[in-house]
Amino acid sequence: MLLDDNPDVGGQIWRRVGGGPAGVWRERVKHSGAEIRGGVTVFDAEKVDGRVRLRCESAAGASVVDAEQVVLATGARELFLPFPGWTLPGVFGVGGLQALVKSGFDVRGKRIVVGGTGPLLLAVAAYLSERGAKVESIAEQAEKSRLIGFAGAMLGQPGKLWQGAKLRASIIDVEYRFGAWITEVRGEDRVRQAVLNDGRVIDVDAVACGFGLVGNTQLAQVVGAGSGHWALGTGEEKNSTSMDPTTGPWHGRVIVDDLMRTSVDGVLCAGEPLGIGGVETSLVEGTMAGYAAAGREELARGLIPRRRRERAFAAAMERAFALREEVLRLARPETIVCRCEDVTMSRIAACDHWRGAKLLTRCGMGPCQGRVCGAAVEAMMGWAVRDVRPPVFPVSMNALAATGGAMEGA
Ligand SMILES: Cc1cc2nc3c(=O)[nH]c(=O)nc-3n(C[C@H](O)[C@H](O)[C@H](O)COP(=O)(O)OP(=O)(O)OC[C@H]3O[C@@H](n4cnc5c(N)ncnc54)[C@H](O)[C@@H]3O)c2cc1C
Repeated sequence: MLLDDNPDVGGQIWRRVGGGPAGVWRERVKHSGAEIRGGVTVFDAEKVDGRVRLRCESAAGASVVDAEQVVLATGARELFLPFPGWTLPGVFGVGGLQALVKSGFDVRGKRIVVGGTGPLLLAVAAYLSERGAKVESIAEQAEKSRLIGFAGAMLGQPGKLWQGAKLRASIIDVEYRFGAWITEVRGEDRVRQAVLNDGRVIDVDAVACGFGLVGNTQLAQVVGAGSGHWALGTGEEKNSTSMDPTTGPWHGRVIVDDLMRTSVDGVLCAGEPLGIGGVETSLVEGTMAGYAAAGREELARGLIPRRRRERAFAAAMERAFALREEVLRLARPETIVCRCEDVTMSRIAACDHWRGAKLLTRCGMGPCQGRVCGAAVEAMMGWAVRDVRPPVFPVSMNALAATGGAMEGA
């Protein structure tokens, strides 16, 4: 069975994309014999009587799925860093804007500045241009010099190099500046101007910012999977991590063994919750997890070298596009950090840790449950912001009652 809260299969990149590899994988899923349930949110995962119980909600109501093996492939969400004006209408996450355009949002003729960090900026800028937007500038916070090591890793991945070159060539007339970032955006009712760190002011209709991605580890956390800090592909993961979730606080990424098994029997994990790696990494890890879950371990083992290559590339990318201090310090005292609860930077800065900030300011207590502000606060303040309890998404009382889950949390 495949459960996905998107109505259609394909995840972030391949939503509403038909041809190419997306089409091939769609066909494979269709012919796999798996029951596909779209529009279903899994809000809790728990070991019950040796099986993994998933509690779900959809428009049709609540349901419980018990399985012997579960592969968590929950992807990632965007990291939003607060800066002056970031809550104005017309300011989007890069991935979010791309997803909206894929769903029909019209950007023809719109003047857009794309800012932040990482290869997604180029991919989205190219996509927006293709859809008729006028991309005024791409502001990449990383210095060109930082990308030298990354260029070495790119040479080992000619496919990705070619893809990057093609994207750049498609928008060769668009300014692509390194060591550049948006310091604030201005406007009364909506965004009108973007200010760059060199003082330039650009008139805009929209701003798309992307400061990287954060893995969706919540389900892995609530089921009790171990976590760690390693950089995959370096071989460090075996030495520096704990497979025992009780030995310390949650560390950013889910830890798996060579067959993608987490520390919880019957729970495997693949893709972005293991560390941001991009689509190729997710595909190879998903395939490995599928094989391992189906008892075809030898096939999964055959993919280990490919996975290591992909993860080494991901680690190089992470180093190259690490966020610089200036970008982490853009919020002013009056800048909203938690937009669900209207909590400003000065109120958060007056606290000592995340839990204190939650109790004193309600930061992270709104509908997004810290999905947006939690990751931002972690990046800006260096606090451990990984406390999660079920339900991992807001759900109705009916769903809780019908599935026998998380009444304690409610
Ligand atoms: C908004 C956005 C846009 C992106 N655009 C690009 C791009 O253009 N190019 C690129 O190379 N990379 C892009 N990425 C990076 C992208 O995350 C990966 O490269 C790739 O999609 C990862 O594949 P995955 O299968 O690990 O996760 P995903 O593709 O994210 O798939 C995870 C799926 O799990 C579902 N899900 C998550 N939690 C639950 C739950 N609790 N219950 C039910 N379903 C759940 C999600 O809805 C999603 O369909 C984007 C990321 C984001 C966040």
